[in-house]
Amino acid sequence: MAIASDPHVKRNLVLEWFVGGGEVYRSRFRAFEVGCVAAFFYLTGAMGLDVVAGMLASPSAARYVVPVAFAAYVAADFVSGFVHFLADTYCTETTPLLGPKLIAPFREHHRDPLAITRHVFIEANCDNCFTTLFALVPTHVFVHATRGGAPTLFSLFVLLFSLGILMTSIAHGWAHQDEPPWHARLLQRAGIVISRDRHARHHAPPHRSDYCITSGWLNPLLDGTRFFHHLERALSKVGIHRGG
Ligand SMILES: [Zn+2]
Ligand SMILES: [Zn+2]
Repeated sequence: MAIASDPHVKRNLVLEWFVGGGEVYRSRFRAFEVGCVAAFFYLTGAMGLDVVAGMLASPSAARYVVPVAFAAYVAADFVSGFVHFLADTYCTETTPLLGPKLIAPFREHHRDPLAITRHVFIEANCDNCFTTLFALVPTHVFVHATRGGAPTLFSLFVLLFSLGILMTSIAHGWAHQDEPPWHARLLQRAGIVISRDRHARHHAPPHRSDYCITSGWLNPLLDGTRFFHHLERALSKVGIHRGG
């Protein structure tokens, strides 16, 4: 949603300390972007409290926390790769609606991989925050996480999946920084977020492997099975062909 490149380096903002970057930019959608990020943090906070209450109501659900957390983080990694594949492969940067918002950032990123290292938190993450609202809002409204059992675990999955989606742009940004923050290096070394070396494989032309950019855990599996190659062939059989 940045409509003009008017950066003024302004580092040491609180969130930028965590994610890196820090160039302020102009946007006529700033209020909407702030609203999306605020709604994301409000909903994840509220759901977190509900999930804790649900866990206290049914302590036996606690044994599923680790598997649910693992599944949610893997799902977020898959979605990061799937959306990245679609954006790199289909439509063009001038496609109405999707082009400027979804396609252009990914393709521009191949031309200027360092651009995302300069973004402020809100610019890098407002789209992901907006997208997760489609899962967070209905779950928060219709699933009663405080009841314990399955509703609590489902809410926990949606909550952690949404946080995983938020981590996508953050982890991707870290993978491009020359000197990521110390906590990022710790997570990269532990393999919890994708490392600079592993992500560099995607940036080697023709950019058709290693699409996952959160943890990157699924890249060996998806590339080894040529998942996206088969998906592209299947889509071409139903008339959906590679874009420009
Ligand atoms: Zn790409
Ligand atoms: Zn990249």
